[in-house]
Amino acid sequence: MNLKEYESKRTFEKTTEPKDKSEKSEGTTYVIQKHAATHLHYDLRLEMDGVLKSWAVPKEPPVNFGIRRLAIQVEDHPLSYANFTGTIPEGEYGAGSVEIWDKGTFKLIDRKEDKLVVEINGEKLNGSYVLVRLKDKKNWIFFKKK
Ligand code: MN
Repeated sequence: MNLKEYESKRTFEKTTEPKDKSEKSEGTTYVIQKHAATHLHYDLRLEMDGVLKSWAVPKEPPVNFGIRRLAIQVEDHPLSYANFTGTIPEGEYGAGSVEIWDKGTFKLIDRKEDKLVVEINGEKLNGSYVLVRLKDKKNWIFFKKK
């Protein structure tokens, strides 16, 4: 796990976002935070390797089959971030409000370098979901599987 990038982007004296507290958990946390930053987006987070693997989804995540969303992988976040809501102050990285849009658990069905298959158990997102990595590595496509 590596939270150096997460920590280097934030001033913890100014933001109320969590510093890593390395909580132990079952390893199944799924959360999507609606983040009203400069551009409204949705942060998809899945617990893997002791951190929250994170993607910024510029449009509303795919509730139904047939919708494909770009998901831009961003820095790993600490597990404690799954419960974060609030306002990141002006001038800080990601300034704007963060609220929980969906939350629950997930099961990792398949994990490859360029493809993740997960079974999401949330309130808005429910069922099999796929993340496929595009050529430029940072960009993934996120969609619901039939
Ligand atoms: Mn964000």
